[in-house]
Amino acid sequence: MLKQYSGQLILLICIAFLSLTFIPVQADTGPYADIVLLNGSVYTVEQNTDWSDHPLEAIAIKGNTILSVNSSQDIQKFIGPKTRVQDLSGKMVLPGFIDSHIHFGASAELTFGVNLSDCHSISEVQKLLADYNSDHPELDVIRGYGWNYFLFTESGPDKAIIDSVISDKPVILTSFDGHASWVNSKALEIADITAETPDPQGGKIEHDSNGQPTGVLRELAATNLVTIRVTPLSSKQIEDKLNVILPKAASYGITTADDAALTPEMIAAYSHLESQGKLPVRIFGEIVAVPELGQKQMALMELEQDIFNTYSDLNLLHTNINSSQTDSNIPPDSIALENISEYRDTKGLFRLQTGKLFLDGVVEGHTGYLLSPYTDKPDTNGMINWNISEFNQMISLLDRNEFQIDIHSIGDGAVRLSLDAYENAQTENGERDARHKISHIQLINSSDIQRLKSLHIIASLQPNWFYYDDNFKNVSLPYLGEERAEHMYTLKTLLDNDIPVAIGSDWPVGTDYLTYNPLDGIRTAVTRLPLPSNSTYTIPYRPEERISLKQAIESATYTGAYADFMENYTGTLEPGKLADIIVLDRDLFSLPPEDINKAHVIATYLEGKKVFEDPQAFTS
Ligand SMILES: [Zn+2]
Repeated sequence: MLKQYSGQLILLICIAFLSLTFIPVQADTGPYADIVLLNGSVYTVEQNTDWSDHPLEAIAIKGNTILSVNSSQDIQKFIGPKTRVQDLSGKMVLPGFIDSHIHFGASAELTFGVNLSDCHSISEVQKLLADYNSDHPELDVIRGYGWNYFLFTESGPDKAIIDSVISDKPVILTSFDGHASWVNSKALEIADITAETPDPQGGKIEHDSNGQPTGVLRELAATNLVTIRVTPLSSKQIEDKLNVILPKAASYGITTADDAALTPEMIAAYSHLESQGKLPVRIFGEIVAVPELGQKQMALMELEQDIFNTYSDLNLLHTNINSSQTDSNIPPDSIALENISEYRDTKGLFRLQTGKLFLDGVVEGHTGYLLSPYTDKPDTNGMINWNISEFNQMISLLDRNEFQIDIHSIGDGAVRLSLDAYENAQTENGERDARHKISHIQLINSSDIQRLKSLHIIASLQPNWFYYDDNFKNVSLPYLGEERAEHMYTLKTLLDNDIPVAIGSDWPVGTDYLTYNPLDGIRTAVTRLPLPSNSTYTIPYRPEERISLKQAIESATYTGAYADFMENYTGTLEPGKLADIIVLDRDLFSLPPEDINKAHVIATYLEGKKVFEDPQAFTS
């Protein structure tokens, strides 16, 4: 007990220390604000208050910090000769949104090449591929993304469809959800994938009735067999993509995002953007721990503190990664894992503090791991990417090394195994303020809900999946059966059980409507109605799990901050906190729930700096 208590005490001291160092004391301590926003509806999201019923009018910002939230009259005393004053004319002010699970970096990779997401036939796919190939003779590998499973029969697409268009270079096409790749014969040849190649741990090579690989590779482990053999995207190429993706995130009001699977190239890209002062969003990166390494990875982790100092800068880190790729089977992610502590305590806009493990896959690929077999395939419960004993040891080791952990768990079976692993880690290492996460939780057995609570796990959910669509009709319903398909995405019950639920988009993963606008997620959390305006589905999905707008906003702000250990710095609008603030063109509380996402963010401040403004919005 004493040991536990002293651990908590040390942590408290660390937090106190961080709070002293994190918010710089301004040299000029004069009473005036740099910026004052007046005559608005300022919703503070201050915890344990009825904030939604009592908006304030004005907010004053000095440097990177909120100076005061008050009435327009009482804020006057902060207006000096140099203060910039903005009259909001009743517009809404909120803390910046926090997307607790998104893949900016992967999207830069996954959205490189041909966009197949609007294809409705195989001939459309072939035409786009042929056009792209002739437009890009310089590329030695053709990439594409966005194809959907229901274009094909259950066995999925076939390499021959691509071969007939491109056969002289490898082609790698990622599915819309990122959990499968469709490749051509050249790619299989480069990766030495034949009829005899065994499935890698955590992945699946699809075969036809003759035992030949079809060209479909499920999960990252199988896709990696090809991707490690072709030229990877450079950090510069990723950075160029991030320079398009991140400003759009700022325009949606996202001030913090958890990038839920980073590679070393992505880390280098983010790091470079930060060093150039070009990050418009605060990024918490999650480093993937891969099952292929097993015990070897754990040994690397234990050595992490010693090894670290030898990788003092990213260029060196990068060199090491590239050389390791050629001489061993170590996937690049594992190298970054050694380096995580370098970023763990930095105070900038890019930080790494979380280890990410993919325990199962997705229902769409029959790889989500279920407690009971799939309805349409009674011989399987899905797939576990890890050997469970190694998984438990890895979780325990990461926990012992004070990593926050995020586990991708789709099926109720994976959720239970994740809870078992967290419980085991807590028994071995003692309790601490770890704030481990489980991401997605598409299904959960009701008996496991209390375990989430007692183990203090944060549920990371993606409400923009929570509605009826063709994917529900063609996949969830036949694969899971009616009973389970009608009981996915338990949101309100988790909140009712006092489990912290942080919401995010998982973009660019999704079904028929890919979005990382947080207002889309909030709207669906509140209505459970389809996002596409032309949807033929008109009834809400599992309406008893709808939550209030107040709850949805809290999940998209305060709880996201809590999940990042940032609730003392951001997530609410209170004096002394970082000025992560957004202005919306209308008050969400005045809108019918289905119109919530018709509102627009018109200004975004990150640490007091305006990172987005709609120039027209303030003139009307
Ligand atoms: Zn994800």
